[in-house]
Amino acid sequence: MSNVFPRDTRISPPVAVRGEGCYLIDSEGKRYFDGSGGAAVSCLGHGDAGVTAAIKDQLDRLAFAHTSFFTSEPAEALAELLIQHAPGDLSRVYFVSGGSEAVEAALKLARQYYVEIDQPERSRIIARRQSYHGNTLGALATGGNEWRRAQFGPLLLDVSHIAPCYEYRFKAEKETAHEYGQRAAQELEDEILRLGPDTVMAFVAEPVVGATLGAVPAVEGYFKRIREICDRYGVLLILDEVMCGMGRTGYLYACEADGVAPDILCIAKGLGAGYQPIGAMLCSGAIYDAIASGSGFFQHGHTYIGHPVATAAGLAVVRALLDRGLVAGVTSLGEKLDDALRSLLGQHPHVGDIRGRGLFRGIELVENRETKAPFDPSQKIAAKLKKAAMEAGLICYPMSGTIDGQKGDHILLAPPFIMTDDHIGELSEKVAISVTKVLG
Ligand code: PMP
Repeated sequence: MSNVFPRDTRISPPVAVRGEGCYLIDSEGKRYFDGSGGAAVSCLGHGDAGVTAAIKDQLDRLAFAHTSFFTSEPAEALAELLIQHAPGDLSRVYFVSGGSEAVEAALKLARQYYVEIDQPERSRIIARRQSYHGNTLGALATGGNEWRRAQFGPLLLDVSHIAPCYEYRFKAEKETAHEYGQRAAQELEDEILRLGPDTVMAFVAEPVVGATLGAVPAVEGYFKRIREICDRYGVLLILDEVMCGMGRTGYLYACEADGVAPDILCIAKGLGAGYQPIGAMLCSGAIYDAIASGSGFFQHGHTYIGHPVATAAGLAVVRALLDRGLVAGVTSLGEKLDDALRSLLGQHPHVGDIRGRGLFRGIELVENRETKAPFDPSQKIAAKLKKAAMEAGLICYPMSGTIDGQKGDHILLAPPFIMTDDHIGELSEKVAISVTKVLG
């Protein structure tokens, strides 16, 4: 219970007191390279003067005005900016306070859309195994992470889960990556047909899977086929870019790399970059119009939607990402990081795969490289790695996931976009030191 306050001194983590660029500093003065932005949050690093000034300025002018009565300048400006760069027909934005809220709003919007267009029998959700979409009940039901769901099963919606697109584990040797992607996508059509096409409301997926798999992009062609299947059966495509969005993969919206546009898109984490809690759901004009010309009202809401200070922070963050060329620099920084990780760990007997896109990188750890057999969960590899990394002055995100029944371990890296070549060296060396300390 390390995240319950006041802290329990028997298990408490260090007290963070300051953030400076790529580093976090604790109350003992120890510096940590923030190699994962917590969990892919701090894309601008810590102490960004422009974002803090924008927050202070907004606080001085207007801290809060409830969206039942008012809109606000920063919310309007941020929505315009997000839409200006958004793919497809995404043209309206609903601001919330984080990723789970964005996913909940997406599910309810999808449901209301079908009620409004007179297809009330559509209520089924299809998502993927080994996925995470948040911890509130709708989002938790949508996610396919068995461990997180286990004890809450009786409270969860009945969501169907198909296989993720996970080349390292599931591509057959005789298949090309493209053939594998088509086979993986076919599971969606099969499941829609099994459930009955008229009952299915939405398919939910992360373009690049973060926490549960460790930065796994889909293979080329997978999402194009998914889009076709959704269109064929009138199923809404909801993409969860809470972790992989906002430039993390080298594109402001991760789905751009896959050449698809969803009907609903969720973002959070990098949108506020840790400076304020903010998330958003973007939806297509078609969905917006159906509701606007129907009941005229999205039957949802929270007190803090469109919060002026949170949206002012988001506006300053997205402007910084675009105007300072930070998103544009992510791809080449990511390639350098990938090279550095491969040269230090590519031959390590327990490193099965190094993958990812942009500054979203994953390292999968295995007991046996040939068979890809994961470590026995009793070895608690992820927990040991987290400890070793913090000792080495590194924040990274080691996780244990379930790979179709078997536990597996990976490290997720999501460093700030402001990092330099020297930082890439420091980050990769600290990762290698931590892996070597735990696995030899
Ligand atoms: N979706 C994805 C893909 C995530 O990675 C997360 C958070 N790790 C969430 C949703 C939930 O976001 P939050 O923790 O802000 O509620």
